Amino acid sequence: MYVETAKLFIIIVITVVTLYLLLKREIECIRLGKKDFKCRKCGVCCSFLIFLNRADIERILKLGYKEKDFSKKILWFNILRKKDDACVFAKEEGTYNGNKGSERAKEIVCKIYENRPQTCRKYPSLRFFGIKANDNRCRSFNE
Ligand code: SF4
Ligand code: SF4
Repeated sequence: MYVETAKLFIIIVITVVTLYLLLKREIECIRLGKKDFKCRKCGVCCSFLIFLNRADIERILKLGYKEKDFSKKILWFNILRKKDDACVFAKEEGTYNGNKGSERAKEIVCKIYENRPQTCRKYPSLRFFGIKANDNRCRSFNE
């Protein structure tokens, strides 16, 4: 009886630890979901993989950009093109004052801010299991 209980206890501990390790990022993001967000203009998120939907592409085309210059295909998805490890629309400007966020000397601004893709508009807001979360890679939360 004692041995059976000990085995069950070990299985429960291993399961909980494994689940925690697998969901560590999601748990952290959900915790950050309650925090206020203030963009530091560090440009970190502008180096991520950004998906484009058709409405995003149409909106950007209307600004006079050619699709091949800002969009590329990965399998059947359209993603934003990059240049120097950042989105082609990311532009360095002024002096960077958000000191904790980046090694960059300048702020990163978006050349198409009013027409930026849906993914950029929502960032860093996420949903995990229907729960509001914030992406823990966003420098706004790195105090
Ligand atoms: S990572 Fe966060 S703080 Fe930095 S530019 Fe993106 S949204 Fe703003
Ligand atoms: S479109 Fe603008 S906000 Fe979105 S990744 Fe590019 S520079 Fe950043």
